Amino acid sequence: MEPRITDLQIQSRVHELLDLPVCTNQMSTAIYQCPIGHTKEVNNENSKTKPYNCPHSGSKCSVTGDIPWLLLHLRNDHNVDMHDGRSFSHRYVHHNPKHLHHATWMLTLLDCFGRQFCLYFEAFHLRRTPMYIAFVQFIGDEEEAMNFSYSLEVGGNGRKLKWQGVPRSIRDSHKTVRDSQDGLIITRKLAMFFSTDNTSNKELKLKVSGRVWREQ
Ligand SMILES: [Zn+2]
Repeated sequence: MEPRITDLQIQSRVHELLDLPVCTNQMSTAIYQCPIGHTKEVNNENSKTKPYNCPHSGSKCSVTGDIPWLLLHLRNDHNVDMHDGRSFSHRYVHHNPKHLHHATWMLTLLDCFGRQFCLYFEAFHLRRTPMYIAFVQFIGDEEEAMNFSYSLEVGGNGRKLKWQGVPRSIRDSHKTVRDSQDGLIITRKLAMFFSTDNTSNKELKLKVSGRVWREQ
């Protein structure tokens, strides 16, 4: 399958972690009526396991539930986009990256192989060095997550950086994964080289593409 380019301009939805919005956690009865693929299968698989915490990164959210429930919650309460297919490409932009310390961009859900994955992109500081990290997490348990691999690639202006990894289960929080640096790490300086038109201004414009596959 050809990679689909969906250059999401999501800078307006970047969340500053220093100023956390409160998750409303309100779900109307209409939400239950939304059809979702694979609900039955996933439901059976997870009926014996404990509920998952909401994997949303932009706000403190205490919602827990099984996978179908979380997918509805992410879509309806956090307005998270679902991307169908195993290849993806997203553009992360910010007008003033110099003043961006700890922040997380809008979460993207990936739907492939009948399962769902979360694509995260965050700004953080490692000691005093400003960094960005992108990584994928599996909506399911660790054991099953290990059946999958993913790659992420960022590039521009003749430079390219690639990461291959194993998606971590959402049993680990996105913060745990970020702090263990288990993902594509880009220093801010490097990110500015990749930014597509950094000659005209100092905007951050990163195109992160990647794919998920099942290990044989
Ligand atoms: Zn939530």
